[in-house]
Amino acid sequence: MMRQFELVERVKSYDPGADEDILNRAYVFAMKMHGSQLRASGDSYFSHPIEVAGILTRYKLDSASIVTALLHDTIEDTPATLTDVSKMFGPEIARMVDGVTKLSRLELQSDQSKQAENFRKLVLAMSEDIRVLLIKLADRVHNMRTLRYIAKPDKRRRIALETMEIYAPLAERIGFQEVKIELEDMAFAELHPDVRDSLVARLNFLREKGGDLIGRILDELRRTLSEAGVEAVVSGREKTPYSIWRKMQLKNVAFEQLSDIMAFRVQVASVEDCYRALGVIHSQYPMVPNRFKDYISVPKPNGYRSLHTGVFGPERHRIEMQIRTEEMHEISELGVAAHWSYKQGQRPADGKQYRWLRELLDIMEHASNPEEFLEHTRLEMFQDQVFCFTPRGDLIALPRGACPVDFAYAVHSEVGDACVGAKINSRMMPLRTPLNNGDQVEIITSKAQTPNPTWERFVITGKARARIRRFIRTQQRSQYVNLGQAILNRAFKQEGYEFTEKALEGVLKIFKVSSGEDLVALVGEGHFSGRDVVAAVYPQLKAEQQKASLALTDSQLAQKRNRVKPGMTAPIRGLIPGMAMHFAGCCHPLPGDRIVGIVATGKGVTIHTIDCDSLEQFAETPERWLDLSWGNASDEHDLHVGRIFLVVANEEGSLGNISIVITKNLGNISNLKITNRNSDFYEIIVDIEVRNVKHLTNIIAALRASPIISSVERAKS
Ligand code: MN
Repeated sequence: MMRQFELVERVKSYDPGADEDILNRAYVFAMKMHGSQLRASGDSYFSHPIEVAGILTRYKLDSASIVTALLHDTIEDTPATLTDVSKMFGPEIARMVDGVTKLSRLELQSDQSKQAENFRKLVLAMSEDIRVLLIKLADRVHNMRTLRYIAKPDKRRRIALETMEIYAPLAERIGFQEVKIELEDMAFAELHPDVRDSLVARLNFLREKGGDLIGRILDELRRTLSEAGVEAVVSGREKTPYSIWRKMQLKNVAFEQLSDIMAFRVQVASVEDCYRALGVIHSQYPMVPNRFKDYISVPKPNGYRSLHTGVFGPERHRIEMQIRTEEMHEISELGVAAHWSYKQGQRPADGKQYRWLRELLDIMEHASNPEEFLEHTRLEMFQDQVFCFTPRGDLIALPRGACPVDFAYAVHSEVGDACVGAKINSRMMPLRTPLNNGDQVEIITSKAQTPNPTWERFVITGKARARIRRFIRTQQRSQYVNLGQAILNRAFKQEGYEFTEKALEGVLKIFKVSSGEDLVALVGEGHFSGRDVVAAVYPQLKAEQQKASLALTDSQLAQKRNRVKPGMTAPIRGLIPGMAMHFAGCCHPLPGDRIVGIVATGKGVTIHTIDCDSLEQFAETPERWLDLSWGNASDEHDLHVGRIFLVVANEEGSLGNISIVITKNLGNISNLKITNRNSDFYEIIVDIEVRNVKHLTNIIAALRASPIISSVERAKS
């Protein structure tokens, strides 16, 4: 455990004017308050806040942050109150301690919607003072370092998942690269221990086989650069198991095909030298196509700057290279914290790199539920970005795969709502065209335009999707209300009455709705018939009808509601209510796949993935095609069958190994068929019950990491 004077010395080493007295008082106060409490590891509890403070000194945080780190668990876990802290350490520190405490309380809740809500509060809290987030991240780093001491596997898993999905992306967003890598690796070890072990084993094997490969490549790179007169510090490393695993998932390649598992960094004195070094490297070694990225002229939104390239380098090994100055390097490793240490004593400026924070807040206001919001946010955080320009030259950063509609919404909600067309690099292009880096995009708008519901199928930013959905919801609602009114007019007239919304006031309770308009809309949607309503309003009419309407039990109500509501019972949007549907046996669609429905008279709708080979036979009958998409809540509870095609070495225990890998990744084998067997290999089709396409992709990547498997593909027909 770090001693009191060591901590103070560390802070003073980068901030000679730091308030020594307050650091000492905080150390003593925390030690006294935590007293004899113990951590799950058996260490004294007080070691935790000290470690958290220690982590933050690495990032040269100001003494107020270090004091807050020391005190961060006192409100929650000791008799100390916020008033005590405020009296002893002042309002600034009290406010930060309060912020961290609130975030910690949020962590205790675990289900999906709470997690989303937590995330929202997290974003809100840190948009007020980014230091609260830095402290929270350091707290998470230490808790992950000691995760193994927590006895309950469920709890470990939840913490690891939250780390992977929320904290690591946040660390990346603010440029806390080191923290991001450490968090990811620790969470990976908890979530997929076998995969990680097998990747580590492979890396070790390659290292032994290649001898000191990294050392040899380094020598040659250094020589090449110095012979060309470029002064540079060159370093090299293996990529982390997690980043290799991510690449295996994203690019669908097996480990053997992943040759670029080494990354090299060239550090030079100036921006000009960056480009000179790049020139030397490119003239000496063949460049790998499409790997060059210039983040110096166009930095990432989190402030990251560097040149990236891939070459077939020394000994023809495919390697990745980053070229940057020392300052760029420091900012890339330490992110916001580095900006912070450059301006000691000031609050970090609310500069451009926090624009994404405000964008997040904007999405949250327009998303209909927290889950929807969280899903989009996660996706956006993970995706690579493309950078496009407005005709005026303003930079708009979008996730890769974004289209002009996303661009329009990123410029302004109203531009998105009114968009009718787009010029990409001065040429008219369809609105669904994926944008590329450097595209100049001009959005053409019309006041008469409203968001088109079909856009929802190709936009990928959370902001665009949230706006379009909101529009669809209001639009559908007004259609249902109109229809409901027409139905009710007729039904009332048949019995000789005039329909008014006022007449419904007395029966709202019977239908369990809160307003007359809600009831009218439900009639329009087909949940209740006009007769149901008339009979409820005029119970004297017919004894039979009375029975039918007034005696509706809760379960009958629920049944009626469910019967025709698309997207509630069926997880698919865009189906015709009441129509039978089933999933195609050829392509086994999973939530997350793009899907399309084919209507067969008398048989309902068959759902295929959009790239299913068997769709060819329907090319001539476009009227049978239905545009469909997955509903919201479909991911979590239902299991769907996905089919994969495997080629496996014919060795003892191969089949057992496959089933172990699948089971460990929480998949359930529902069918397994050997289609071909020779002395070396099996070919096998395996049907697996999974939650969604991401789940299946995980399993496929885990299988790819296994040495006995030579190929794994998702079956498409
Ligand atoms: Mn803590």
